[in-house]
Amino acid sequence: MSTSPCPRPGEPEAGGPVAGPRPPVSLSPSRASDFMRCPLLYRFRVIDKLPEKPSEAATRGTLVHAVLERLFDAPAAERTPPRARELLPGQWARLLEERPELAELFADDPAGEKLARWLAEAEGLVERWFTLEDPTRLEPAERELFVETELESGLRLRGVIDRVDVAPTGEVRIVDYKTGKAPRPEYRDGALFQMTFYALVVWRLKNVIPRRLQLVYLGSGEVLTYDPVEADLRRVERRLLALWEAIAHATATGDWRPRPTKLCGWCDHQERCPEFGGTPPVYPLPVVPPPRSG
Ligand code: SF4
Repeated sequence: MSTSPCPRPGEPEAGGPVAGPRPPVSLSPSRASDFMRCPLLYRFRVIDKLPEKPSEAATRGTLVHAVLERLFDAPAAERTPPRARELLPGQWARLLEERPELAELFADDPAGEKLARWLAEAEGLVERWFTLEDPTRLEPAERELFVETELESGLRLRGVIDRVDVAPTGEVRIVDYKTGKAPRPEYRDGALFQMTFYALVVWRLKNVIPRRLQLVYLGSGEVLTYDPVEADLRRVERRLLALWEAIAHATATGDWRPRPTKLCGWCDHQERCPEFGGTPPVYPLPVVPPPRSG
């Protein structure tokens, strides 16, 4: 069990940091969501580890997260919108240094107009944050916190929590920044899944049920909160165990079904997806033959 600071970008993969195909050993909220969305997408990402093109939206999200994290390095009174704006170019330069492939995003933009527009959008998201929270009155206990725990079943859960606030009374608040828009009410359960996942991990690690889960949507300027109780965390634990069983079964049998939805439009793997006439690469793990009948 561990908690330690972990820089963005990138939530840990369920298959762990080791390169090459191997069975998944742990689950993060993103990869759990991948499997629920489309098992074949999970396989491509976790087992085949197929590369994906960087996207402007995801990279903007990474940049905005980095700025909001670094802003808390400053003394409380200096955590202002101008200070946050000043951080943007430096954090973008740092990201580019860590991940040179991000330069591809603006390779067709010699005049720099697209990049300027993209940076202005990131700036707008950062500025909107100040209408939702007041960083001069916050003193986070943790930022970009890597958490990992093992349940009694042996399932390992891991992820990165954007911010953890601890009140003088000891109450814990888990905060996550989203650069998109808040979901419609009928989709809120999906949004809260990631947060209850983190609440379960924190509960297992520190024996404290977080008092509040808070999603800060910079895209639409909304804050979604939920105060979990033990029954919520036990429910998400059962759900994760069932999910892990399904992943283990697919891993052993090599049976990863595509599940087409309108989100396929954003999938990088259409050319190898049977739903779009493609063929997946040869399954790289040993397959357990089904039991003989009769
Ligand atoms: S294109 Fe759709 S169905 Fe195919 S792997 Fe991607 S998400 Fe799954």
